[in-house]
Amino acid sequence: CDICNVGFSTTQSLWRHRRRKHWKEHKAGMFYTKQKNLVCLLCDDFKCSVQAELIDHYNSAHGKNLDVKCEAFEKEDKFIEWKADLEKRTSSLFIIKTARKGTHLQNEVKYYSCNRSGYFKRSGNNLRSLKKKGSCKVSGHCSAYITMKRNKHTGYVTVDYCGEHVGHDLDPKYLKLSPDIRNYVASALSSGVNIDKLLENLKEEFSMVGRDALISRRDILNIRSKFITESVARGSMIEAFLVTYYKLYTMSDVPKFRFAEFIR
Ligand SMILES: [Zn+2]
Ligand SMILES: [Zn+2]
Ligand SMILES: [Zn+2]
Repeated sequence: CDICNVGFSTTQSLWRHRRRKHWKEHKAGMFYTKQKNLVCLLCDDFKCSVQAELIDHYNSAHGKNLDVKCEAFEKEDKFIEWKADLEKRTSSLFIIKTARKGTHLQNEVKYYSCNRSGYFKRSGNNLRSLKKKGSCKVSGHCSAYITMKRNKHTGYVTVDYCGEHVGHDLDPKYLKLSPDIRNYVASALSSGVNIDKLLENLKEEFSMVGRDALISRRDILNIRSKFITESVARGSMIEAFLVTYYKLYTMSDVPKFRFAEFIR
């Protein structure tokens, strides 16, 4: 024990001792060493465990002027709208880091962080695919965050957040396509428009801004594969997809395929 210098043979007995003899310190959380896993993006040696501390550090050590603000919403829908608007205005994306909704808690809590925060987790040894895709992670932690609390009884939502980003550019390339453009692409594909034509049409039909302006063949293929996966999951067929079918010359008639029989 670091307080009274008594030795213990097991960690359990040490904890028992702490709880009994040093209950004040125990209650104050002194024995819990928090993991310092938030890392400053502007210097090499600052680490801390809570977002508020990181923001203080950006302000005091790096001359930033970051604000933590609060908002309240009658229900979660309104919060989602507000969040989408904030993301649009700042060309950024907040993703859920952790969520707590223990049955004994009065509030459900969701912690969102900037999607650029964190580290790229390389799967296997595939350097080439990393280079090709480019990781959006900046190897450290941005100031932007949202903590959302929803009262389980009233549905009322309160939020504290920092909407300003530190340590990375706001490159739309790391964002998501808008739902409008995704829906347009899905429906165009299902009516049989080919990808080149579709890319051309998009430039005429949409005032392309932000991430949408960067839409590529790759995006369209992703939308297509997601759309197909969902359709198969629903058990519905997409008859309008153009399929080339080769038959053996000995086969006399063409079989009727069910959608699930296709291999992607
Ligand atoms: Zn002790
Ligand atoms: Zn720093
Ligand atoms: Zn950020």
